[in-house]
Amino acid sequence: KPQKERQRLPVVPQGIERDDFLKALAELKELLGDGNVEINDKPLRDGWYMEHPNTHDMMTILDEEEFVASAVVYPGSTEEVQQVVLWANKHRVPIFPISMGRNLGYGGAAPRVRGSVTVDLGRRMNKILDINAEDYTCLVEPGVSFYALYEALKERGLEEHMWIDTPDLGGGSVIGNTVDRGVGYTPYGDHWACHSGLEVVLPTGEVIRTGMGALPNNNTWQAFPYGFGPYSDGIFSQSNFGIVTKMGMTLMPNPGGYESFMYTFPNDDDLAQLIDIIRPLRISNILENVAQVRHVTQYIAASGHPRSKFYTGPGPVPQDVIRAAAAETPVGDHAWAYYGMAYGPAHIRAHKLALIDREFRRIPGARRIDPATLPADEYFWSRDRVARGVPDIHELRWVNWAPNGAHIAFSPVSPIRGADARRLFALGRRLHDKYGIDFFPAFCVGLREMHLIVEIVFDRDDAANKAAALACLRDLVDEAAREGYGEYRTHLVLMDQVAGTYSWNDGALMKFNERLKDALDPNGILAPGRCGIWPRRYRGRGWEM
Ligand code: ADP
Repeated sequence: KPQKERQRLPVVPQGIERDDFLKALAELKELLGDGNVEINDKPLRDGWYMEHPNTHDMMTILDEEEFVASAVVYPGSTEEVQQVVLWANKHRVPIFPISMGRNLGYGGAAPRVRGSVTVDLGRRMNKILDINAEDYTCLVEPGVSFYALYEALKERGLEEHMWIDTPDLGGGSVIGNTVDRGVGYTPYGDHWACHSGLEVVLPTGEVIRTGMGALPNNNTWQAFPYGFGPYSDGIFSQSNFGIVTKMGMTLMPNPGGYESFMYTFPNDDDLAQLIDIIRPLRISNILENVAQVRHVTQYIAASGHPRSKFYTGPGPVPQDVIRAAAAETPVGDHAWAYYGMAYGPAHIRAHKLALIDREFRRIPGARRIDPATLPADEYFWSRDRVARGVPDIHELRWVNWAPNGAHIAFSPVSPIRGADARRLFALGRRLHDKYGIDFFPAFCVGLREMHLIVEIVFDRDDAANKAAALACLRDLVDEAAREGYGEYRTHLVLMDQVAGTYSWNDGALMKFNERLKDALDPNGILAPGRCGIWPRRYRGRGWEM
């Protein structure tokens, strides 16, 4: 779709005069080279997932000028990252580090504070520094995507030997996804739990290495994550306490075979029983990867057809219309689809699959779909690739549901209990109906908890649609929190609200985070406001939203 071709005056970060800012940028060019500092004075172009902008959120739910960068810098080394940090302190310019900025649905490449200088680490710092085929580990820079890591294994002839773990969409950065605590779908799906060792540039410019990395000449940085003393890695995820320039990651040995399976269940109300069946199977590792239970509405959207193909009336597409459409697909007129994978040689898989089959069939009407009957472009095959660590982008398809489709997620954590699933499902359905939005719930069972992932798809050129989506999200967050459910991750626009729900003992955790922030970043230059953590300079001055 053609973009609006209006010229833009570059945004200047608040609290600095335009001329001073331009002079500061000239100084940064001296340090990093002319080509590595770009002022953001061009029209904002949205592009698409693989050619995404690094200046703003291409899926913004606010005005696109709200979370926008004043400039983008491209450091080429840890030393250059340090130089950028020192420069930001000198001029009191807010900077916002991204690895690749494909964090769509959570803010993309956009900074929380308008006019921040985006530090795009990925463009030049994109090396795979090590792949260790004996220890099954690797060491990467911020610009290494899941695709790039996968390709590197292939180039080295290692793809039969070891697997990577990829999120639903494989174009993002391994570091970016991991520090934001994203997940994937092999048994190594908890990325944060699977990383080992960070190199971090602190907001005052010093560099540290965590875990065994602090021991000069160590040989176990990627093998033992803890080292000695306090385990500091945690404060560098979902935070604004440092810039990660290197990260170790574990890789999975090829399990010696794999087999995807899919079940469907007929009724909305089967959800509770299904979740209660999943819990013991998942905790005991009979179900070996993140268990995905998707509602048929999202299954229909994942076909990639626009909503208008099915329904043109106002409000959510009626469930009988969805079911009628589903009746024409392999899912039939069922309400839920389960996607899973069994790992290991055939005889080991057979044992686990038989147990799963017996348990799942306790639900009346449960059906196992034979993968051999599924066409090649069926969503099942995308799940199959992702669950064996092959990066994919099929998941983007449901964004076509709305014209100019964009998405944003509500993702509360709950116990793996039928009663909780039922409550969250009812809450989501009620609030989506209230705002006239189609409801796309998918339950993802981690190990001892599950995330409900609700993606709201909206038209980014339709102000009323955006306002309804945002109001719906805000209600979802508040009502869920009242019932004891908190988000595992969130979009820039909701960070203050979500952080505010973690308020036990008069907000003690946020007070602790603020003390850390003020100690580590006395000038408040690094990603102010990220995850609701505001430096002293910004607090109580109307920045929260
Ligand atoms: P991806 O491209 O994998 O989706 P992003 O680069 O968009 O990931 O990262 C998601 C978010 O995580 C960013 O908005 C940023 O706040 C944070 N982040 C990403 N990379 C780093 C890093 N190297 N150091 C510190 N924070 C980071």
